[in-house]
Amino acid sequence: MNRKLIGVDIGGTTIKIGIITYEGELLHKWEIPTDKRNSANHIPEDIWNSIQDKLTEQHIERTSIVGIGVGAPGFVDTSTGNVSVAVNIGWRNFDLGQAMHELSKLPVYVDNDANIAAVGENWKGSGNLAENIIAITLGTGVGAGIIANGHVINGTNGTAGEIGHITVEPEGGAPCNCGRTGCLETVTSATGIARQAKEAVDAGKDTRLKQRLERNQLLTAKDVFDLAKEGDKVSQSIVAHVTDTLGYAIANVATVINPSKIVIGGGVSKAGEDLLRPLRYAFEKYALPRINEGCEFVIAALENDAGIYGGAYLVKQNHS
Ligand SMILES: [Zn+2]
Repeated sequence: MNRKLIGVDIGGTTIKIGIITYEGELLHKWEIPTDKRNSANHIPEDIWNSIQDKLTEQHIERTSIVGIGVGAPGFVDTSTGNVSVAVNIGWRNFDLGQAMHELSKLPVYVDNDANIAAVGENWKGSGNLAENIIAITLGTGVGAGIIANGHVINGTNGTAGEIGHITVEPEGGAPCNCGRTGCLETVTSATGIARQAKEAVDAGKDTRLKQRLERNQLLTAKDVFDLAKEGDKVSQSIVAHVTDTLGYAIANVATVINPSKIVIGGGVSKAGEDLLRPLRYAFEKYALPRINEGCEFVIAALENDAGIYGGAYLVKQNHS
C-alpha cells in the first residue's frame, strides 16, 4: 500500500497542512485560517474537516494515511499531546492530540512548532539527517529545535531548546515576551533588530536608517542588513552586535550537544552570507576549537514547509 503521512503546522494566523508520501515527497499542501474565536476550540475540527475534504477531492483512501503529526506553538507535552500554554493561539491546557485523535481515529503526534521545523529541515532540508543539529528560526521571535543523538530534545516539561530565552543581557536589556528581560530573542529576532535600529535613530545617531524610517514609517531587519552592506556604520554595528550575541549563545549551546550542523532559518536568514559570515566569526571566537571544527552553518532550505515535513516525519519515526 502507498502509505502517506499528514503534517500540520499550526501558526498564529494560518494552519499549514501537507500530505506527504512515506518517502518524503510532498503531494499536496494548503492552508486554512487559524480561527481563534471561542478560545480557539474549533481548530482540531477545522483541521480534520479540511483534511477530509482534500482526501475526497484527491481520491486518496483514508486507510492509506498512517497518522498525523502536528506542530503547535507554545509548550507541548509530547507524551499526551497536551498544549499547556500557546499565547499566540489562546490555548491553555488544551488536549490537542486527544481531540485530533478522537476526530480522525488516527495516531496523532504533537510537538512544539520549532522542534517540528527542526525535524523537517533535518529530513528534507539542509540537515541531511544529521544526528546532532541545532536549528534556529530568526523571525518575529527566536525559536529553536535541537536534535541530539537523532532525537529531538524535549526535556522535563517540553521546554528544552528554547534558545530564544537564553539570557544574553543579564544587566537588564529589553523586555521579552516571556516576561523577563535581556533574552537572546530581544536582540537577534527580526523584531529585536528593528527595535535596535529605531533606538539608534531616536538617539540621534548619524545613520541612513533615519531616512528609511521617514520614508517607510517603520524599520525592518532587512533595512539594517541592506544599509550595513552599503556602508552605513550604525547599521554595521547593529549587525555586529546581533551576530556576536547570536554566535556567543550558539557556541555555548553547541558545547552541550557537539552538533555537525547549525541551520539558520526565518525571515532574518534571508540575509544569507551577510548574516552567516559574521556569525561564523563570532562562533569561532566563543566555541571550543573542536566544536567549531566539527560543525558547519547553513541557511534553512525549506522555509515555510519545514513544519509540515517535520510533522510528517514525526509520524514516520513512530511507524517505521
Ligand atoms: Zn524571554
